[in-house]
Amino acid sequence: MNVTVVCEDNASMHSPEGIKAYPEGMGVCLRQLLEEDGNAVTLVRADENGAEGLTDDILAATDVMFWWGHWYHGAVSDELIAKVAERALRGMGMVFLHSAHDSKMLKKLLGTSCSLKWREDGELERLWCVDMSHPIARGLGEFIDIPREEMYGEPFDIPAPDELVYVGWFRGGEVLRGGCVFRRGRGKLFYFNPGHETYPTYKLPAVRRLLCNACGYVAPQAPLRPDLACRHCEEPSIPLQ
Ligand code: ZN
Repeated sequence: MNVTVVCEDNASMHSPEGIKAYPEGMGVCLRQLLEEDGNAVTLVRADENGAEGLTDDILAATDVMFWWGHWYHGAVSDELIAKVAERALRGMGMVFLHSAHDSKMLKKLLGTSCSLKWREDGELERLWCVDMSHPIARGLGEFIDIPREEMYGEPFDIPAPDELVYVGWFRGGEVLRGGCVFRRGRGKLFYFNPGHETYPTYKLPAVRRLLCNACGYVAPQAPLRPDLACRHCEEPSIPLQ
């Protein structure tokens, strides 16, 4: 399938810790792990100019889009957000990683502030699977330990997830709904909290497996329709505001 990875390039990724975690760059790491699973992957850089490389042609060919952003959420234009959200509602799968919880895109699709507690101590996160039958957890155990991660905790201002797959736990006692599926329109999206840029979380075999599982799970099951028309009456629906 065609996967597009939109990954921010920020100064923290070029710090000694960031380079140690991802010498090749986090975006390249994500691209490679998805290519190893048989996908054709396009990597788009996001920065202070937004995500200018995400062209209409790339968007039109995308089955699943991964989104990692942190510093430059505000630089992504509302016009682009609207186009991507519209395709997501028509069935394109989306995977939101780590601080993409605060992206305009996720807030638009979920309709809440998506705010949460955070603490950057590089501590253990234990991700407990709370739905062992879920396809995203296929081949994985009861929990995944991430040795060093940024704490993201409740209260996490999201709607009740349609499917809750993982709950993260931290030594400070915090917990987070860290692996959640939401259904919007004809599409599915998955939010996954691990992945701070100075910790090599996306190098962990279990996390790589989980992300490939998630990619397959949110992928459209049929070709995307050209519009949001109702299946039954064929009348165009109201565009997303
Ligand atoms: Zn972070």
